[in-house]
Amino acid sequence: MTCHNCQSTCNRFGKHRNGLQRYRCSQCRKTFTEDHTRPLVGMRLPLDKAESILKLLVEGMSLRSIERVTGVHRDTIMSLLLLAGERSQQLMDTKMRNLSARYLQVDEIWTYVGKKRRNVRSGDSPELGDQWATKPKPS
Ligand SMILES: [Zn+2]
Repeated sequence: MTCHNCQSTCNRFGKHRNGLQRYRCSQCRKTFTEDHTRPLVGMRLPLDKAESILKLLVEGMSLRSIERVTGVHRDTIMSLLLLAGERSQQLMDTKMRNLSARYLQVDEIWTYVGKKRRNVRSGDSPELGDQWATKPKPS
């Protein structure tokens, strides 16, 4: 860890009451805490509440129902959903590489995807249309 003040190396200096590591600079003797990790970037939503909202979304609960149950505004829920989607994409892009799968099972999301297909319009991105077109019919 380098000092924010003089850029020299720092030693560990106990723990903060919230559990984060504290450091003290060996030159200027200033103390500071390690950077807080912010899993929800700029959102002020508590992590446990965000987790329960995502669980409700995965279970298929509607946006307004979640709003009523949790008391979190629907725009916040949508921001959380967008963030979770982007993070999932990042995770899958880094972890799922060079796979040679013969079969893919996507039963759980098929109803969602199938429902969305009806909403694809002629003016939408051709990528979107291809995505739906390559989907085999469930037997
Ligand atoms: Zn320093």
